[in-house]
Amino acid sequence: MRILITPTSLSRTPDAEVLAPLREMADELIFNTLGRPLTSAELAEALPGIDGVIAGLDTYDAAALAGADRLRVISRYGVGVNNVDLDAAAGRGIHVTRTPGANASAVAELAIGLAFAVAREIPRLHAEVADGGWPRGSGIELGGRTFGVVGFGAIGRIVAERARGIGMNVLAYDPFVPATAIAETGATPASLDELFRAADVVSLHVPLLESTRHVADAARIAAMKPGAILLNTSRGGLIDEAAAREALDAGHLFGVGLDAYETEPPQDSPLLGHPRVVATPHSGAHTAEAVARMASGAIQNLVEELSGRASVHRV
Ligand code: NAD
Repeated sequence: MRILITPTSLSRTPDAEVLAPLREMADELIFNTLGRPLTSAELAEALPGIDGVIAGLDTYDAAALAGADRLRVISRYGVGVNNVDLDAAAGRGIHVTRTPGANASAVAELAIGLAFAVAREIPRLHAEVADGGWPRGSGIELGGRTFGVVGFGAIGRIVAERARGIGMNVLAYDPFVPATAIAETGATPASLDELFRAADVVSLHVPLLESTRHVADAARIAAMKPGAILLNTSRGGLIDEAAAREALDAGHLFGVGLDAYETEPPQDSPLLGHPRVVATPHSGAHTAEAVARMASGAIQNLVEELSGRASVHRV
């Protein structure tokens, strides 16, 4: 049995204890040595002869899966499955699993961190002080303001709780969570358009689907309060980046915090380089705790599936 392991954080530590169940099960573990997710073409070459994959953010489209002659499971190390063609996988009898909740606190804390970083211009002030300067900040306070959470799942709920903890009022939108369940947490249920109009900080925590592509489109960005902050720690494609750039240039938005981009790495994002954009490299899940939970969860799911049992975390 041959298992491919693509997440860069696991590939850097091939002797890690957490990989022991895989070493026991497989004849060979193959690691991604490129230091980045694999493209469809690279996967097409790597997948023949592979029985299971611990999968990072690689592109599992139909072309990549076409030659996967032995593959039985794609075990996502993380939650998002937008990079996996689920129909193509199902057509080949490949099960897809994920690790829900494993990185929720990590991503939620990054979202709150980005809110403060944007509101207080921490990266700019740091860079200037490190450079020998002594600049004056011109920030805004978050306490007492309104935080809008779009998507009240594992991450959105924790973001809402943290935002309340710093004295913010929270609005939340999720068409699949009953309003009563949102209200029970202390957040106020709102429609998507109400939330965009009323929040001082809008933070996106929905998966990237056709229905959520450009959920922050030009009209909703224009409807945001003057001086508001937009955060995306979810997936590129949720924000119309060109419209967000225009709103920044016009001084309508105070700033934008990003961990996810339309293309990654984001060479041609219109948002990068703007002084009020704080950008991190899709590192929401990169904490010691989340990496450990995602690794053990993804490995457990893979071992279950390859042992002929259905993982409860099948998509
Ligand atoms: P989750 O599945 O627990 O929650 C997603 C929520 O979105 C669900 O409650 C669902 O009802 C809601 N939703 C679905 N369609 C919606 C729509 N059209 N409008 C509003 N809400 C909708 O997932 P999660 O663990 O909270 O993760 C959320 C997203 O964060 C993931 O899909 C992923 O893209 C992203 N993510 C990013 C990182 C990172 O490193 N930055 C890490 C993990 C996850």
